[in-house]
Amino acid sequence: MKEEYERGAVCPLCGKHYTDHPALSRIDNETLICPECGTRQALASIGVDEEEQDEIIAVIYEHADRPGLHIVSE
Ligand SMILES: [Zn+2]
Repeated sequence: MKEEYERGAVCPLCGKHYTDHPALSRIDNETLICPECGTRQALASIGVDEEEQDEIIAVIYEHADRPGLHIVSE
């Protein structure tokens, strides 16, 4: 399983290919989904609506340490 997702996997929820560590779906507790969908489900579970989820995710990914992307201070 580990070797599989080290090369990346396709998220069954949004269909996106991702290479980050997968998240465990809160729906069945066994499906691996992309970190973004994992964040969305976590937010939804605490009552955050979709619009607000988008905003939070945008902030998270803006500041995330993405491979190949170096944030330089202006
Ligand atoms: Zn996804």
